[in-house]
Amino acid sequence: MSDLLITGARLLGGEANDVLVREGTIAEVGRGLDVPADTETVDADGLTLLPGLVDLHTHLREPGREDAETIASGAAAAAAGGFTAVLAMANTNPVTDTAEAAERVLDLGRDAGLVDVQPIGAVTKGLEGEELAELGLMHRSRAAVRVFSDDGRCVADARVMRRALEYVRAFGGVVSQHSQDPDLAGPSACCHEGELSGRLGLPGWPAVAESSIIARDAQLARHTSSRVHVAHVSTAEGVEVVRWAKAQGIALTAEVTPHHLLLTQDLLSGYDPTFKVNPPLRPSEDVEALRAALADGTIDAVATDHAPHARHDKEHAFVDAAFGMLGLETAFAVVHDTMVRGGFMDLATLADRMSTAPARIAGLRDHGGAIEAGAPANLVLVDTEANRTVDAAASRSLSRNNPWHGRSLTGAVHTTILRGRVTASLQGTA
Ligand SMILES: [Zn+2]
Repeated sequence: MSDLLITGARLLGGEANDVLVREGTIAEVGRGLDVPADTETVDADGLTLLPGLVDLHTHLREPGREDAETIASGAAAAAAGGFTAVLAMANTNPVTDTAEAAERVLDLGRDAGLVDVQPIGAVTKGLEGEELAELGLMHRSRAAVRVFSDDGRCVADARVMRRALEYVRAFGGVVSQHSQDPDLAGPSACCHEGELSGRLGLPGWPAVAESSIIARDAQLARHTSSRVHVAHVSTAEGVEVVRWAKAQGIALTAEVTPHHLLLTQDLLSGYDPTFKVNPPLRPSEDVEALRAALADGTIDAVATDHAPHARHDKEHAFVDAAFGMLGLETAFAVVHDTMVRGGFMDLATLADRMSTAPARIAGLRDHGGAIEAGAPANLVLVDTEANRTVDAAASRSLSRNNPWHGRSLTGAVHTTILRGRVTASLQGTA
């Protein structure tokens, strides 16, 4: 592998520096590095260098729904979005609930070669919520699964959740919970329960369906001395419980999606299923609480919940359409525009929430580290001044359920580097 020299990049938004990458590893950081004249060079003058982004929550749809996304197309979208690692959710068909299924996801990710694809294992067989899946076998497999989730569904049975937490404790695993009491939410819920849902005549999820499960799981994590992760927290009430659990010293972490940081339930007034997502878009007070909690570290990480859907699953009457929206390619721009330009955090904090913290939660040692000699060269160059209008047609994803289409955002991914190799760039390499 040839050397790669990045010149004049501002590390985490600070001082401009050169970074020399050799054999997939950062070899040197400094000004005016002495390298052979023919070294491949990326002129990063005016750009910012961050550790490659890590997504704790990606739906890649393969196996089973390759019409909506494949591991290869999802990996291409991830690389374009500045990611060097993604965790692939288990709700595929078949479900990732065995060692073989997990290894297959890992291998398909390696074949694509654009981003590290780390499988998430199901908590229960077939996501049925009853019998524990092969957690230990998945962990001991080549895929070394550490994160388990029935995402799409809540592990609603407290006894099953307790046993899962006890089981993963043995090898330092974590259960990522889709916190939503199915009885409180009701089977046909499709938006936030409140004044607007009443006006639109749509059945809703109350915030307490989320916060009550977070509270229960926090208590179970304490009882079992194990680790729980709250997927896509979406309400101020949920944030309050996360804050309480952390104050008690409970090993609980939480993520928020870019869409819950920027979009509100008001978008539902036109019944456009593009904005139908689970958990649902909430009122602006919730959005404000989520922003503050991400800034102060109550919420540890941003995760996309990238959820591609084929046209024929999404283009229905609102109540019948599939849940979910695309997110990999726009995550950096949305978080940068909302949180950094919005004055809530600096670029170093964004790097923590989008790379370092998610890598730590998932136990990915090669990602999210400091940009220094000896570290794996998993990096992203971003342009914090670039203003772009999102074009759904330009996406690498196979799906087009893009809630950001037509929106103008400041902050763009310039070049993504996985172990020293350019996997995506504005110049169109890779
Ligand atoms: Zn979910």
